[in-house]
Amino acid sequence: MKTTSLFAVIAATFALESSALSEKQIDELVGRMTLEEKVGQLVQSPSSRLEGLASQESGDEGLPPEIARAVREGCVGSILGACGLKTYNAVQKLAVEQSRAGIPLMVGNDMIHGVLTQLPIPLALSCSWDDGLWFRAGDLIGRETPLKGCNWTFTPMVDISRDARWGRIAEGPGQDAYLASRMSAAMVRGIQSDKHVYPVAACLKHYLGYGAAIGGRDYNAVEMSESTLRNVYLPPFKAGVEAGALTVMPAFHSLNGVACSVNKWILEDVLRGELGFRGFTVSDYNAIGECGWENRHGMSEDGAPLAAMALDAGMCVDMMSETYEKYLKEAVEKGLVAESTLDKRVREVLRVKNALGLFETPYIDERAVRGSFDFEDHVALAREAAAKCCVLLKNENGTLPLKPGVKVALVGPGAEDLRNFMGCWVATRVENDRNGTIVEGLRADGVDFTYVSGYGFDDEPVDDGALVAAAEAADVVLALFGEHGDESGENQSRMHLELGSSQLKVLEVLKSTGKPIVALLGAGRPLVIKPLLDKADAVLNMWSPGSSGGWGVADVLTGRVAPSGRLTVDMPYATGQCPVYYNHTRTNRPHDMPTQGERWVTRYKDGPNAGLLPFGYGLTYTTFEYSGERVERRGDDLVFSCRLTNTGKAAGVETVQAYTHELVARETRPVRELRGWKRVELNPGESAAVEIAVPVAALSHYEGSKLVDASGRHHCWITRDSASGRRLDIDL
Ligand code: BGC
Repeated sequence: MKTTSLFAVIAATFALESSALSEKQIDELVGRMTLEEKVGQLVQSPSSRLEGLASQESGDEGLPPEIARAVREGCVGSILGACGLKTYNAVQKLAVEQSRAGIPLMVGNDMIHGVLTQLPIPLALSCSWDDGLWFRAGDLIGRETPLKGCNWTFTPMVDISRDARWGRIAEGPGQDAYLASRMSAAMVRGIQSDKHVYPVAACLKHYLGYGAAIGGRDYNAVEMSESTLRNVYLPPFKAGVEAGALTVMPAFHSLNGVACSVNKWILEDVLRGELGFRGFTVSDYNAIGECGWENRHGMSEDGAPLAAMALDAGMCVDMMSETYEKYLKEAVEKGLVAESTLDKRVREVLRVKNALGLFETPYIDERAVRGSFDFEDHVALAREAAAKCCVLLKNENGTLPLKPGVKVALVGPGAEDLRNFMGCWVATRVENDRNGTIVEGLRADGVDFTYVSGYGFDDEPVDDGALVAAAEAADVVLALFGEHGDESGENQSRMHLELGSSQLKVLEVLKSTGKPIVALLGAGRPLVIKPLLDKADAVLNMWSPGSSGGWGVADVLTGRVAPSGRLTVDMPYATGQCPVYYNHTRTNRPHDMPTQGERWVTRYKDGPNAGLLPFGYGLTYTTFEYSGERVERRGDDLVFSCRLTNTGKAAGVETVQAYTHELVARETRPVRELRGWKRVELNPGESAAVEIAVPVAALSHYEGSKLVDASGRHHCWITRDSASGRRLDIDL
């Protein structure tokens, strides 16, 4: 029966035709469970504890007896880590066929940008501004995940981040709430698509405000107003919940003094109460325990009160801290938390297991999963995505695309190191031979090149002689800059975003040869790249482009594919500006205020206010002209329109962007906010009328907990990026 509202939500994603349990049957199941079994559903064990299980099932010794016992006795509800298909099926069998309650397990892992195939890192994916690509990325993850013995992925990470110092900016959708919301919804739909033979649950993380860690230092506290929380950080979670995400992971940090893991306001009032989330929450790694004693958040001295606090706050599953495993039973028995609260959390977990169809189909049939997609399609998608996510930041004198037959000197670190291209969170090893670094990519595209490494990303010595010799023997130099792909992600915060001294020296050395320089920028975050913009002839930002990254990037370099990515974060001018973001609120002394002398406006003494390159920025191999920009109200919509003309000599895609600014409100409004966009492809000389319709209701904003409509005067722009365009005015 599929009449509950949870199923209504899931219908958009899974349409499981089966004898799924009704809400009543779930209640009955909970009613039959012992206290230990109920606690067990909320306990997540590491997959390392399962070592030996698969071999034991095939007759060998080696099964850790305590795991078999724990699963058989129903003391474990889920497992962390890809344990492999054989082990998955073996442990599932213990749970389903040998435990008293027969409840299947969930097994989860982080597949944030791929599994067997690694797509570009999520920050790069965001730069495609393409809902279709985000859906296909989720779809790939959803199809490949079961092959690792998992039915759950801790994906998508939808934390807004405005601060490049924070290494986890690599894992998310960038700095804009609206763009991130569209990416969140599309990826959830892809992961949980009803086309998959074996359903996988998505997990929205890290709820809430994690990307605003003070100073950009991972795990640090977050302090922010309720308005900012609701206007900027909450929308991608709201969109993901509306798209049907079955699980949510609260973050590690404390938000305005209360750790997210035990924060009843965000978990119960906002997530469940306001957003209508009906799936289950899973803590981050050891996060419940870290709310407690020993110099942690210090919100409770003892285990049982802490377990009670987390459960009561709305935390369902304890990942790795053993707080529930050791203390939750005691907490219930002592009356620190009501058993009915425990029942509620267990029901939430069972609903998700039920929605995944695990009660009917607990085992993964490898052949069925493998037969459900063509691996070559995934490899092709990885290549296509890598090309689509590249952002061309500079291209003087038509340096790119490389001319046919040109001799290239490829120089720099990591050109043959696949890890460098794959980026952070390659949770599972890519087990295939269909991968490509830039060396393989250039070879595949028939480029005539030589490769010398010559320097490192940091402060290693520079082999000037080899670099000069390589450059002099070539027509153009292709040089790698940035940070290694492993240098972003969790707990990879930086105080310095500048390029290492060896990279700066290399620029000088290469410049001295007089050969055109194409800087190929690889990184999991926006770095301070002013020297590259000043000295290189072309700069292509490939981020960490994934397991087929070299092929996709070579496609852009050779012009096989025209670059179409646009930044989803501002590139900082200097580290000291961070956090720097286009949609900052107004100040009383704006820097462009004409009547105020320079001395008393908001500014730095030693640099500009704006980043080096703005959100929305990106070039291609042609040019576009905007004319006839207009904005008007049509019924419930605000309609932006213009005529767009391809004025260059190549076909290309322009991402036309619509922004607004609300002039008067009780709380100061951002100087610009993205409201919509359209990717428009035009041939040389071709022109098209472009319209972007935005529901006026979408312009509402929160002041505290109050949603305020957008009546009043607005400035509007339909333009190429967040820093350009002709201002249009409208009264709503
Ligand atoms: C990370 C999460 C991840 C979890 C499980 C934590 O350290 O913060 O993003 O899902 O580990 O791997």
